[in-house]
Amino acid sequence: MTNPSLLILAGDGIGPEVMTEVRKVIDWYGAKRDLSFDVTEDLVGGCAYDAHGTPLTDETMAKAQAADAVLLGAVGGPAYDNLDFSLKPERGLLRLRKEMDLYANLRPAQCFDALADFSSLKADVVGGLDIMIVRELTSGVYFGEPRGIHKEGNERVGINTQRYTESEIARVARSAFELARKRDNKVCSMEKANVMGSGVLWRDVVTEIHAAEYPDVELSHMYADAGAMQLTRWPKQFDVIVTDNLFGDLLSDLAAMLTGSLGMLPSASLGAPMANGRPKAMYEPVHGSAPDIAGQGKANPIACILSFAMALRYSFDEGDEATRLEDAIEAVLADGLRTADLIGEEGSAPVSTSEMGDAIVAKLDASL
Ligand code: NAD
Repeated sequence: MTNPSLLILAGDGIGPEVMTEVRKVIDWYGAKRDLSFDVTEDLVGGCAYDAHGTPLTDETMAKAQAADAVLLGAVGGPAYDNLDFSLKPERGLLRLRKEMDLYANLRPAQCFDALADFSSLKADVVGGLDIMIVRELTSGVYFGEPRGIHKEGNERVGINTQRYTESEIARVARSAFELARKRDNKVCSMEKANVMGSGVLWRDVVTEIHAAEYPDVELSHMYADAGAMQLTRWPKQFDVIVTDNLFGDLLSDLAAMLTGSLGMLPSASLGAPMANGRPKAMYEPVHGSAPDIAGQGKANPIACILSFAMALRYSFDEGDEATRLEDAIEAVLADGLRTADLIGEEGSAPVSTSEMGDAIVAKLDASL
């Protein structure tokens, strides 16, 4: 049997630094768990622009389409700020998401017990938190037509259109219900059905899909503004939240920051199943290329390593191994190891990016 293929696009800034630590974890799985991947590396973002004059070549795009999963670091940096919009590093990322049609964006908000004091909320509100926000990623108000700015009489008018088709809502709803079945079996759908037609349709379609295909999953509905309040009041009431592109953008950032640092946050973007049954998939940390700390060994590699854990769970059906990796991270944090971003004002000395990666691999070893 051939190994599953993994395309690594480390990108710019701290991207390659955190990806080096992920490679240690990938190598560990090959050596110790008989779980090997055919890994290919390529360029995306500013480094691709430097090498090829474009943030993503057609060849790299084709490799991403063919891979069982793509693992991305981060793109961007001050050197590219003045490039034409079409050449900016972020365009490489957007092209990947668009052409792979990655419509379900999974953003977990998980609070490791050892970091509960790091949250801006009380430790008992966030300790042990484990929720998943599923954000629709390829439609809605960021893409709907008409859009833009035009003149009406003497003043300018800005327009964006919230537009959803039934099938766009149905497919992301299915993603959320499928996920819930692997978790605590609860979905809360959030929209603004009280004031938006697209919200009424969203609620109707989610309700229909639930009744027809997932009656075993517990479904509730909430207006997105009330959802934001509930997320900060008592986030543990939720398991999976499914919502549109705009509300998902806001709610996933809100939920994620309940848990502390940007350096801890993974994500997955999933599309339709491929011929082999695996979903089209790209996994990446939520953070950017962090030019302020790039090249200094200060970056926290955990977000990127947790993104690989999501790949194990959602692309490769290796949920137990994903849990092993998450437990190794939890154990390292419980030992008190912290990269600089996880240290408060009176904290002890931070460990470097590679020391954190090595400690996680040592805990993986200890798990055997
Ligand atoms: P950023 O996420 O790169 O950094 C924000 C802050 O968080 C910085 O202080 C940084 O040092 C810190 N930080 C981020 N990741 C960290 C980690 N793993 N460990 C420790 N500290 C970490 O966001 P920004 O500064 O707004 O953007 C910098 C560049 O990254 C820009 O060019 C932006 O366009 C790009 N960007 C890319 C992505 C992506 O590739 N997905 C996402 C956001 C921003």
